[in-house]
Amino acid sequence: MIDSRNWFAEIPETRQRCFLASQRNGVCIEVNGRTLVNFSSNDYLGLSTHPDVCMAAQKACSVMVGSGASRLVSGDDPMLHRLEEKLARWKGYEACLITGSGMLANLGLIQALADRHTHLFTDKLNHASLVDGARLSGAKTHRYAHLDTGQLAQQLQQHVAEKRIIVSDGVFSMDGDCANVSLLLQLAEEYDALLIIDDAHGIGTVGESGTGLTSMHKISGHARLIEVGTFGKAFGSYGAFILGTDELIEGLRQRQRTMVYSTALPLAMIAAAESALGLIQQAKQVSQLHRNLAHFKAGTAALGFMASDTAIQPLIVGSDTQALAMSTALAGHGFFVAAIRPPTVPENTARLRFTLSASHSMEQIDTLIDYLMDIV
Ligand SMILES: *Cc1c(COP(=O)(O)O)cnc(C)c1O
Repeated sequence: MIDSRNWFAEIPETRQRCFLASQRNGVCIEVNGRTLVNFSSNDYLGLSTHPDVCMAAQKACSVMVGSGASRLVSGDDPMLHRLEEKLARWKGYEACLITGSGMLANLGLIQALADRHTHLFTDKLNHASLVDGARLSGAKTHRYAHLDTGQLAQQLQQHVAEKRIIVSDGVFSMDGDCANVSLLLQLAEEYDALLIIDDAHGIGTVGESGTGLTSMHKISGHARLIEVGTFGKAFGSYGAFILGTDELIEGLRQRQRTMVYSTALPLAMIAAAESALGLIQQAKQVSQLHRNLAHFKAGTAALGFMASDTAIQPLIVGSDTQALAMSTALAGHGFFVAAIRPPTVPENTARLRFTLSASHSMEQIDTLIDYLMDIV
């Protein structure tokens, strides 16, 4: 007999286990009563606990918490438009649309752009939100091997259609490596396609002032390029934004179902994100992140980490059990490092995914490296 208690019975025990971080204090979290230095957060700049960011959110909250309705009904607010303008200017695009989370942004964006006549060309390691957006759109999807632009070019040659879109992460979330965004744009031009780059992990972390991968490659603002960023990572807040031409963004305002049929983001999150943008532009935390990253990379050079120049530093371990055991051992020494296992990553590539933050101290990084020297 089926009821809701045995419906998910096939999910293995290890995947059901979740950590409860009961308290957060800057870069530390309390797990099961113990304080651990968190090396598994996407809060790359420490802005989620920055006093200015918290204060901005609090101030906005003192007037109103929930936005009450979709942006198209009565949930719109000048603050949203002001931040959209700032983001567009910062990244060099004509226009910007703020939506709910990155998941909602990608589901809605691809669904709005593509239908069953559209062909999508997608990197095999794209984030789940892009994969699901493609499914939701009903478009024909061609997946190319991770970063394999040669195979992508072949697929573009093979599958001719009026409307085609190349879709890729900027910085890849589980490997920390980067798409060759210039080459992707070149292919988009050559084969008359659009290009979507989701740089959720790159915006705020990549480039001297954190403007992200497409800005570093000087292609942001191109009319073939649509870019997605989020507030949930380096911005320390919650929500997401899409950047593109005026016409594109206006079209999305009318058509993107995950925005039209969903409650607008709470203003506290917008105020926090706006405050975070100001801090990112001053680049103090961004340079600290880069210093921490260089220090970590130098110290772990001999330990067999994956090649990554970004704040995501994975160490492939192989088996699920081994990854979990190492994660537990690290916790025993005061470090929280999540074991990432299939299906989030391919079979036999279970890994420890370290993420660096501007708020780690050099001492915390050194202590971690010392311990890693012993166990890796
Ligand atoms: C985290 C992430 C998302 C989802 O963003 P949320 O705001 O957390 O929903 C989308 N795309 C990529 C590449 C991500 O890493």
